[in-house]
Amino acid sequence: MKFIIANWKMNGDLALVDEFIEGINDIPSDRKVIVCPPTALITSFNKGKAFSIGAQNCFYEKMGAFTGENSPALLKAIGCEYVILGHSERRAIFHESDEVIYKKWNAAISQVLTPILCIGETADQRANWKKILSKQLSNYCGNKFSDLHGTIFAYEPVWSIGTGKIPSTEEIEEVVCFVKSLLGSSENYCVVYGGSVNSGNAADILGINGLDGVLVGSASLKLDEFKKIII
Ligand code: PEP
Repeated sequence: MKFIIANWKMNGDLALVDEFIEGINDIPSDRKVIVCPPTALITSFNKGKAFSIGAQNCFYEKMGAFTGENSPALLKAIGCEYVILGHSERRAIFHESDEVIYKKWNAAISQVLTPILCIGETADQRANWKKILSKQLSNYCGNKFSDLHGTIFAYEPVWSIGTGKIPSTEEIEEVVCFVKSLLGSSENYCVVYGGSVNSGNAADILGINGLDGVLVGSASLKLDEFKKIII
C-alpha cells in the first residue's frame, strides 16, 4: 500500500474542494490518498469523499489562550485523521524549533492524529545529510523510536521543494534505508518522499524499494495531474 499525500499549502478554494470530492472516487486498493488543505477548508470536505483529510499544522496544547491555533483534538473533531508537522516552510518562515516540533508530534499522537513528520536537508547541508537527518529524527521524536504510533516520515530535501530538482531514485532509496536503519524494524512507521513529485516522475519514485509513498505539493493542486499520480 502506498500513501499519496496532497499538501495544498495555502492554496485551493471551495471550487477545488468540490472538484476533488467529485473527481477522486475510484482509488486503487493499494493506494491511500490523504488531502491536506488549508484549515479553513477542512469542514467543506465533510460531504462524503473517498480519501482522508490531514491538517498542515497543529498546536501542542489541548485548549487555552493561544490565539490563532488549533489543537489536534479540535482538528480530529472536524474530520482530520492526519497532520503534517515540521514542514520546512514552517521551520523557515514560522521559526519552528526542534523542541516545538517534538511537542507537536507528542500532542498529535496523544490526541489521536497520525503525524506526517517532515525531515530533510537544505542545499548547504547536502553533503552532511546523514548527520542532519539523524539529528532531526532524534529531536523531533525525542528518541522514542520504539513508540512511533504509525508516524509517516516524509523525507523532503528542502532544495527539492518547488524547484523541479529531485534526487535520483538511488539516492532516495539510500535515504529510506538509512532512516529505517535508525528507526529500527518496527512496523509502526512509514517513510514517504516529497519534493517536486509530478505525474511524470511519480511512477519511478513509487517503485523505490522500501518507500511507502509520496507527498505532493504543487502537483496536487490540479485534479487531473494529481489523479495521474494516484494511479
Ligand atoms: C511540499 O512542500 O511538501 C512539496 C512536496 O512541494 P512540491 O511538491 O511543490 O515540491
